[in-house]
Amino acid sequence: MTTDTSVRRGGTWLLEETASSEPFTPEKLSDEHRLMAQTAAEFVQGEVLPALDRLEQKDWALARQLLARCGEIGLLGMAVPEAYGGLELDKASSLAVMDRIGPSASFATTFGGQANLTILPLVLFGSDAQKQRYLPRLVTGEIVGAYALSESGSGSDALAAKTRAVRQADGSWRLSGEKMWISNGGFADLFIVFAKVDGEQFTAFIVERGFGGLSSGKEEHKMGLHGSSTTAILLQDVPVPADNVLGEIGKGHKVALNTLNYGRLSLGAMCTGGARVAIGAAARYASSRRQFGQPIATFGAIQHKLGEMVARTYAAESLVYRTAGLIDAVLGGPPHAGAALAQAFEEYAVESSIAKVACSESLDFVLDENVQIHGGNGFVKDYPAERYFRDARVNRIFEGTNEINRLLIPGMLVRRALKGDIPLIAAARRLQDEVLSPSPAAAVTDNRALGDELRAVGAFKKVALMVLGTAMQTYGDKLTDQQEVLSFAADVLIDTYAGESAVLRAQAAAAAADRRSDLHEAAARVFVDGAAQRVEAAAKSALAAMAEGDTLRMLLAALRRILKVTPVNTVALRRRLADASVAEGKYLFG
Ligand SMILES: Cc1cc2nc3c(=O)[nH]c(=O)nc-3n(C[C@H](O)[C@H](O)[C@H](O)COP(=O)(O)OP(=O)(O)OC[C@H]3O[C@@H](n4cnc5c(N)ncnc54)[C@H](O)[C@@H]3O)c2cc1C
Repeated sequence: MTTDTSVRRGGTWLLEETASSEPFTPEKLSDEHRLMAQTAAEFVQGEVLPALDRLEQKDWALARQLLARCGEIGLLGMAVPEAYGGLELDKASSLAVMDRIGPSASFATTFGGQANLTILPLVLFGSDAQKQRYLPRLVTGEIVGAYALSESGSGSDALAAKTRAVRQADGSWRLSGEKMWISNGGFADLFIVFAKVDGEQFTAFIVERGFGGLSSGKEEHKMGLHGSSTTAILLQDVPVPADNVLGEIGKGHKVALNTLNYGRLSLGAMCTGGARVAIGAAARYASSRRQFGQPIATFGAIQHKLGEMVARTYAAESLVYRTAGLIDAVLGGPPHAGAALAQAFEEYAVESSIAKVACSESLDFVLDENVQIHGGNGFVKDYPAERYFRDARVNRIFEGTNEINRLLIPGMLVRRALKGDIPLIAAARRLQDEVLSPSPAAAVTDNRALGDELRAVGAFKKVALMVLGTAMQTYGDKLTDQQEVLSFAADVLIDTYAGESAVLRAQAAAAAADRRSDLHEAAARVFVDGAAQRVEAAAKSALAAMAEGDTLRMLLAALRRILKVTPVNTVALRRRLADASVAEGKYLFG
């Protein structure tokens, strides 16, 4: 399968006034991609959701059976080379599957613990012998994996882990320490454990439960995800063979970070899948629930909510599939060496962090509005709305909190710019010259489909460059201390990438004469209108933190000149999206 998108460097979309190539979109999924996605959707609908009550009662034998079923139908081998029992499909397939697994509630975390957090690091960093030994049994679901990075004292600051690895005279290891919040912890057979050799060299180890000395703590009492196992893992002098180091000694951070790079994008896909299901539930409820003699779906306040839920999910979905296409393009067809995969994931680490933050936050928005649309029924367990809401909250916490990812987004771009990998500094300088001596600009209306929205996104890019450029000039190498400014910059970058992805997808739908092209257009226009307001607010807050007096006035005048975005009638557009969702009783796209 190929997603046929030209090869680009990560982050370069920011430096092009309008994207010079068409992005990959959900509408471009091939029949093979769709078949994989459908297989996953049918599995969730037919086998996982009916088992949810038993999973929530911690029936881990059932969780194992379901993982084995995933193995049977090929869902665990998507990233694994054929030589080790997998299918080695492209990332568009994997993400389309994750998108369909997302709505499986707690089981999505069980699945992610296996596919993203155990299989993936082995594919990326395992030796041939390690892959031969573990991957075939992980791919069938015969054994279950878990990823043990966090500790009570080191969550975000994962490299501060205290778990120790002591080398023995025969070259083997003894591991001691305690890990926290480990998904699949209660029943996993195999653990990717991060520990420090000599208290210093952060290293990944492959640890079998059967080695002895490893035990699981009690199940955590969580806000949500009651059907997924989360426990502490106690390691008491666990003997680990010499050849069970994963990657290199002292290079555990590479294993941890590269695993998370792709895990974040994958989490984004799971979030969009969850949002899609919730929108369907909200639309159906709004159509059946009557108040004041009419369905609540006829009230503007409810239509506003439904329309906005659709628009935000549309943008989130657009950016996830766009990123999948970028990664697939850089990788080319299989087979892929682990190092090539790790490099591709690193190349798009900024986009993956954007996906993690944008999709988890837009999902929480959707689920909160879903509760609201359900009224009192949203607050009781008879309807799934309250569970969706509780289950999703952790998405903003694990795989790197959203605060940490917000810092990473501009941080990684600035680092690449300083290394000369992307010409961000030159672009920021050019922009500075342009805004300081502006030529009188005529108001232009772009007559292409969504031309005005594309111009708006071009303006967001300039705003992002202006904020980043000013921040680099103001703070120099102390920029990392300015978390609030970096977070505002991240907000601008997130809305820029999401907005552009939505507009390009809607334009592609129009060009392909898609029967829903008017709905694509409505979703993209609503999203960009809201993004323009958020971008302006974030940029103003950032600039006001960096300058004052005449300098601030000059920067704000430049911001006004750049960000000339005329508001559109989003009331009508949201109503259109809401009416169509209610008529179909489901999310409209994808
Ligand atoms: C249900 C669940 C499943 C999990 N599964 C796994 C698993 O399978 N494997 C695993 O290893 N871990 C797992 N975790 C742990 C998870 O990855 C951590 O909870 C997460 O990384 C955050 O760490 P923390 O909880 O220690 O929060 P902290 O790091 O203490 O953060 C607390 C707050 O401070 C903020 N903060 C921290 N540092 C900074 C900073 N430098 N700048 C600005 N803000 C900062 C955070 O954003 C957050 O808002 C799981 C957690 C949960 C709840």
